Amino acid sequence: MKRPGLNTQCVHAAHAPDAAVGAIAEPIYLSTTFERGADGSYPRGYRYSREGTPNRTALEECVAALEGGAGAVAFASGLAANMAVLDLLGAGERLVAPGEAYYGSVKQFRDVSRQRGALLELVDGSDPAAIRAAVAGRARLLWIETPTNPLLNVTDLEAATAIGHDAGALVVCDNTFATPVCQRPFSFGVDLVVHSATKYLGGHSDVLSGVVVVRDDPALLERLRAWQRTAGSPLAPFDSWLLRRSIATLGLRVRAQCQGALRIAEFLAAHPAVERVFYPGLTSHPAHALAAAQMHGGYGAVLSVCIAGGAEAALRTAGRTRIFTRATSLGGVESLIEHRASIEGPGSRTPQNLLRLSVGIEEPEDLLEDLAQALA
Ligand SMILES: *Cc1c(COP(=O)(O)O)cnc(C)c1O
Repeated sequence: MKRPGLNTQCVHAAHAPDAAVGAIAEPIYLSTTFERGADGSYPRGYRYSREGTPNRTALEECVAALEGGAGAVAFASGLAANMAVLDLLGAGERLVAPGEAYYGSVKQFRDVSRQRGALLELVDGSDPAAIRAAVAGRARLLWIETPTNPLLNVTDLEAATAIGHDAGALVVCDNTFATPVCQRPFSFGVDLVVHSATKYLGGHSDVLSGVVVVRDDPALLERLRAWQRTAGSPLAPFDSWLLRRSIATLGLRVRAQCQGALRIAEFLAAHPAVERVFYPGLTSHPAHALAAAQMHGGYGAVLSVCIAGGAEAALRTAGRTRIFTRATSLGGVESLIEHRASIEGPGSRTPQNLLRLSVGIEEPEDLLEDLAQALA
């Protein structure tokens, strides 16, 4: 049988009626411990919930199927998932990562590399020549985030992966913004995908979580599972259940959110109170052609705008929205607007007049009207 379509996978991957009673909704197994057989073995595969629970297994198999990987490992946050990958970095080894990326990830790269005596090389991820120069010789890890948070820069996945592999590096892609609905990094040869599942996979702003997916290396998958046990930071059964439940509608949500985001980006690009819009779906975006080639079904549903008149004008605009809620984070069904520099805090390089918008599933007409009155 051919690979099922996106929504079929979202609903059915790693999900079947419960064998015991035929329940259609997956039961939640809160038990921390599992019964041994009379001979001391564990005939049903589970022993202790830090090592594995049925709800986490179902979630991990579902995300692995969506990304097209061999296996996945779920953690209690996106940064905990990053940490599992960064644990591969030894003293004296080099991590090459984008300087413009999720603020918390870049801070984590700095802290972890300093603590481990590893070398950190921050580069412009949209420039393959800069990546080539940074990995020259040898690198342990090449980290990609595309599109980036919050400036929506795009990395050429095929070119960057080839450059990373030439330098002997494992290539990691943070696929939080695009989700497997819009981008499948494994089809470009990337070795590992990480997600802040808190965002689109969860989709309802109610579960903090992260996932690492391994393309095909069983030893690497086992090493990440070992870290999950060592660090003691797996995703809990209820959170795993919430996430698996949300993924059933991932395709529907993300496709609708992308359509809304494109309309909003086009509206804002033509608005006199807006200096600049950052969204790879706009033909004016410097990497639009690249994004069109490596993404499918949409360009994501986060966009950023610089408001004419500086930080004050930006804060005033955010202060007037009625449907967009002023809050950090992204990927939920509800639209959010955020003055990004002030949450990133001191040292932020994000423009002071930048607002980041996460477009939800509300009717695009209502969102457009809300922004029009806020900008008036
Ligand atoms: C939010 C985010 C993270 C961090 O995830 P948490 O779940 O908040 O720990 C990592 N990468 C990107 C791109 C993000 O947006």
